[in-house]
Amino acid sequence: MSALETYRNNAAQWLESIAPIYGKAARKGLSVEEDLALARRYQNAKFEAGYAGINWPTEYGGQGLSHIEKVTFESEEMKHGLPNGYFGISLGMPIPIMMQFGSDQDFVKERVLKALKGEEIWCQLFSEPAGGSDLAGLRTKAETDGNGWKINGQKLWTSWAQYSDYGVIVARTDPNVPKHKGLTYFWVDMKAPGVDVRPIKLAGGDSHVNEVFFDDVKISDDHRMSPIGGGFAVAMATLMIERYVATDSAGFGPHLDLFVDLARQIDINGKPALTDGRIRQQIARNYAMRSGLNAITARAMLMMQAGMTPGPEGSLNKLIAVRSRQKLSELAIDLQGSDGFVFDEHAPQKDNWTSSWINAPTGRIAGGADEMLLNTIAEKILGLPQDHRPDKGVAFNQIPA
Ligand SMILES: Cc1cc2nc3c(=O)[nH]c(=O)nc-3n(C[C@H](O)[C@H](O)[C@H](O)COP(=O)(O)OP(=O)(O)OC[C@H]3O[C@@H](n4cnc5c(N)ncnc54)[C@H](O)[C@@H]3O)c2cc1C
Repeated sequence: MSALETYRNNAAQWLESIAPIYGKAARKGLSVEEDLALARRYQNAKFEAGYAGINWPTEYGGQGLSHIEKVTFESEEMKHGLPNGYFGISLGMPIPIMMQFGSDQDFVKERVLKALKGEEIWCQLFSEPAGGSDLAGLRTKAETDGNGWKINGQKLWTSWAQYSDYGVIVARTDPNVPKHKGLTYFWVDMKAPGVDVRPIKLAGGDSHVNEVFFDDVKISDDHRMSPIGGGFAVAMATLMIERYVATDSAGFGPHLDLFVDLARQIDINGKPALTDGRIRQQIARNYAMRSGLNAITARAMLMMQAGMTPGPEGSLNKLIAVRSRQKLSELAIDLQGSDGFVFDEHAPQKDNWTSSWINAPTGRIAGGADEMLLNTIAEKILGLPQDHRPDKGVAFNQIPA
């Protein structure tokens, strides 16, 4: 057995042992606050067992292993419905970027440890009403009087901001230069005066995303994590950290076996749906597609094992998996007739077709909207010409808004 297989087996065993305490069944019926408290205990248990910060340096409290062990652990972890979502952004991007770009390393080490144990949460304040896919179009500004900075503006879709202690933020510090060149990267205390967090309720019933308003929020210059005007590069570094995360060819929706079970139980014209040619065709299509995506993932894992960096073909994964999850979920709802409309907002999207369907659109937007992934595939894989960029080289304050 290879060292990686041993690692996977040990991780799987540990996860089996704690799943009854923190997994799907234990979480059923909990309020968000109770679930978050459980999640903090789970994160601490992970830390104690050596499964937190798997690929982070040991001097920060990590395990000093590689990205492969991390992805291996995560692919096992996602089988149990464990409450790791609250820390997904925090440990995924802001904390690693603090380790790299934070100026006061004693402060950073303390934050990293608290985040690893689930005691503190960080959010990522990038997107705004006018700056989502086009991140460099953001309008929140940071002005200096030579004695620190004052932030004014609005962020949007900030995951878990209402539970966050700190956040990383990109703001415009110079509107007189082209849009990518006038941005600076900072961290902020989410409890500072002038920070106002307002949750947004999503179609699926949960409110994990927020609007965040900044009204004369004062920060000192040691919160700055990039050169003045050099924030876009750090923002890109943030987005690149998790370029290859654990992927799931089910698009984070139900496994294909669940669809086969459903098609066995439901009749069409007096016969099990599973005997219907149209249903069989959909199962075969999905099986082929998921096998293709698994092959891309397996290839990326082998590349990482060989010390190489996987290419942009990872964009195919989310694009195809979430889109087809949405279609298959719709078919599953149709098959169930009016029963398919029964909606339980606490039902996990990995087990429940209605929950999977209603939450699929956010999956097609977050972390790069479908069209942006198609642009990446067109430009980086197929070598097609770049998207039309009429604002290239134009000073930000000269771009019509
Ligand atoms: C559940 C969820 C959680 C999120 N969490 C966070 C978070 O924690 N922090 C954070 O900063 N952001 C977060 N986001 C925001 C997310 O990053 C943005 O929603 C995303 O980047 C898209 O930006 P937008 O919403 O402004 O849409 P827009 O960029 O306005 O896009 C609107 C539509 O136009 C299309 N489009 C845009 N540009 C092009 C183009 N050049 N070519 C073709 N089509 C184009 C898009 O594909 C999309 O269909 C989250 C979003 C969701 C849904």
